[in-house]
Amino acid sequence: MRDAEERQATSRFAEQALATMRSYAIPPTPENFAVWYLHHAGRLPGLSRAIERLEERRTGVTADETAALHRSFCAAADHAGEVQAAGERVGELVDEVSRRLDVASAHTRDYGERLTTIGNGLSTTVDPGQLVAMVRELERQTELMNERVRTLQRELNQNSDEIENLKGDLASAREAASTDPLTGIGNRKLFDEAFAWETQQAATSGEPLALLVADIDHFKAFNDAHGHQIGDIVLKLVADRLKRSVKGRDTVARYGGEEFAVLLPRTALADAAAVAEQLRGEIAKSRLVMRNRGQELGKVTLSIGVALYRSGESTDTCFERADQALYAAKHAGRNRVMVEGVLETAAA
Ligand code: GH3
Ligand code: MG
Ligand code: MG
Repeated sequence: MRDAEERQATSRFAEQALATMRSYAIPPTPENFAVWYLHHAGRLPGLSRAIERLEERRTGVTADETAALHRSFCAAADHAGEVQAAGERVGELVDEVSRRLDVASAHTRDYGERLTTIGNGLSTTVDPGQLVAMVRELERQTELMNERVRTLQRELNQNSDEIENLKGDLASAREAASTDPLTGIGNRKLFDEAFAWETQQAATSGEPLALLVADIDHFKAFNDAHGHQIGDIVLKLVADRLKRSVKGRDTVARYGGEEFAVLLPRTALADAAAVAEQLRGEIAKSRLVMRNRGQELGKVTLSIGVALYRSGESTDTCFERADQALYAAKHAGRNRVMVEGVLETAAA
């Protein structure tokens, strides 16, 4: 039965979580448990990605890191209303299942008692007529019990289908909560979580963390010339290009309307500037042609600001510097990369 599998999986993830915490000597507090449970259950992809990166070091994961993981990924996830509502419904269904099981076990007890009564009669009765009546009664009781078991099975299957559906809803609600529906890349929420997490990582590891803020040039004019729908297609193309041009550990998000943010962990300022320049160049050289009409749409270009995270500063402060560099790139004529500290790396 799927319900039983469900329970087995839950206990397996719980055991894995406890075993991991034991091996890393992490105290089994509810918060720590939540982190490791959600990771083993594969419930929060961002969390698992962060853990996999920590585990690449092969030195284990500390309690402090677990606390940081909880702050960055689990605490926020708990607050999503949809997620909570679905979680409550799963709880109700589990209660319903356990009520049904109580009823079933009362029926089984009842059935057992009847058999005992019939059995007691059997030991003292020899009359063949009575014996036949008792066997008939036994058959009737058994059929009744079978019918109850079948009904229960049907009801439980229905419940576990509903639990499966809710779990699907829950997973897509989580996914949707951090995805930009137009482009399919991360949204601002995902970016903010990843930025908070990566700055903590950078602070502990001493590795550099770079930030790119990119904005499409004269996009209002582009929309005015070609229409909002074609503008939307361009946003998707730019998002795809950004996503394909960075490494798996990097985070790409649509930060706002025609603005994108890219986090580059373990990347120094000069290397981040090179990545930005590469991106700018690729977008600038793409020719946009409407396939069905063969109509040229002209060039789309990006201006990009680059900043390096400074240990101890807030994410907002770092973002502000990247944004100022972006502003400077716009001011200097667009289609260019500017690095904080006003070092221009490229011009159109
Ligand atoms: P700049 O080079 O200074 O960035 O000029 P701009 O026109 O790109 O900047 P502005 O902030 O004046 O306008 C941004 C435009 O981006 C306005 C809006 O039409 C467009 N935009 C924002 N979000 C979307 C969207 O989801 N779809 C489409 N098609 N356009 C969008
Ligand atoms: Mg713009
Ligand atoms: Mg803008």
